[in-house]
Amino acid sequence: MACQTCRALADEIVLTDAPRVDLDDHWRVEHCYPVAVTGWLVLVLRRHARALHDLTDDEAASLGHWLPAVARALHAATDSEVEYVMQFAESAGFQHVHFHLVARPPDWPDDLQGPGVWAAFGVPNPVSSSKTTGVMEALALHLGLSPQPSGPLHS
Ligand SMILES: [Zn+2]
Repeated sequence: MACQTCRALADEIVLTDAPRVDLDDHWRVEHCYPVAVTGWLVLVLRRHARALHDLTDDEAASLGHWLPAVARALHAATDSEVEYVMQFAESAGFQHVHFHLVARPPDWPDDLQGPGVWAAFGVPNPVSSSKTTGVMEALALHLGLSPQPSGPLHS
């Protein structure tokens, strides 16, 4: 299967219903879709790489800057108590380095704790695009960057 992440980076498909933020030449952040959590972000490498060990030194240095910076901005935007970080890149079509960053608020159900958060991924009734857009606009504001429209969802 063609890499769907690369297709999205090339604007051939749209995987998110909210504005995205290009952080630099190496990384982009967008809101995950479809999820039941407001503030579930995806930090995407802007070129195809299968594994973390494939990152160049520049990409790794940039990641070291942006991962905590995005977590701080996500906290400011959502009042998260902690932020989850996950990187697998194992699903068919998505074997491309990307980190899931999830804002975990203080009032969080026990069944979504830790790896249980995946129960909130791929849901039939995701959080609204007005909520995800609000988070992405607030995130961009805290990062001092401009959000960019992602276009209508299609695949
Ligand atoms: Zn790819």
